Amino acid sequence: MAIIDTHAHIDQLEDLPGAMARAHEAGVSDIVAVSVDLPSMQKLLGLAASCGQPKIHPALGVHPGMVKPEAQQACFDFLRANIKQACAVGETGLDYWYKWVRKDEVERRKQKDSFAFHLDLAREFDLPVVIHSRGAWRDCLQMTVEAQVKRVLFHWYSGPLDILDKIVEAGFYVSTGPSVAYSPESRRAMGHAPIGKILVETDSPVNYKDGEGSFMAEPKDVVRAWKALAQLKDLDEQQLLESLNANAKAFFRI
Ligand SMILES: [Zn+2]
Repeated sequence: MAIIDTHAHIDQLEDLPGAMARAHEAGVSDIVAVSVDLPSMQKLLGLAASCGQPKIHPALGVHPGMVKPEAQQACFDFLRANIKQACAVGETGLDYWYKWVRKDEVERRKQKDSFAFHLDLAREFDLPVVIHSRGAWRDCLQMTVEAQVKRVLFHWYSGPLDILDKIVEAGFYVSTGPSVAYSPESRRAMGHAPIGKILVETDSPVNYKDGEGSFMAEPKDVVRAWKALAQLKDLDEQQLLESLNANAKAFFRI
């Protein structure tokens, strides 16, 4: 058995060597390691070169919550100079979750400018793009379609079903993590999405608040997402795993 964690912040894990060993033991073969800012991009490129098992595939980008105008140019320069070492652009996107952002035109403009740069880069280098779209699903989809990026992943999708339909129609993907075991929004979205368009991930080190108790995720917990998804979809676990792996390999070309 091998499984791929398609979204983890491994540079933020407290015990990285331990987490890698536990992931390997749990059957995790590959991890897509996403970045959020310039220091994490630099750190991940180093980790990808030094880690053995599981295999680390860095994705380079600036998280919408981490966009700083004073650091923007340095981030863009670094991205352009190093993007050929990445399996994807991300995580990037828009985050309108908080009310102050929805009210702050300048903040939204700042996020959109950064997102637009990432989308152009993905198109130019024919790379997939990993999108954080919390509360901003509609704008993320519109910008992505307009930018004509081909391989697109709406990570941890828990948004409206009408937008999910448009994401799937466009040929894009969605992913889910361990929250698919208990979160009504995740379950509704993943119940609706076709199996051929779903990837699994952990977004480690997120603290998940499952009814049975909370836990701090690390890449091995992608197994929880897979098994909960199999139960939700009423599918054979092995059959689902084959589909999840095929989707991840086709999407990231790993
Ligand atoms: Zn993330």
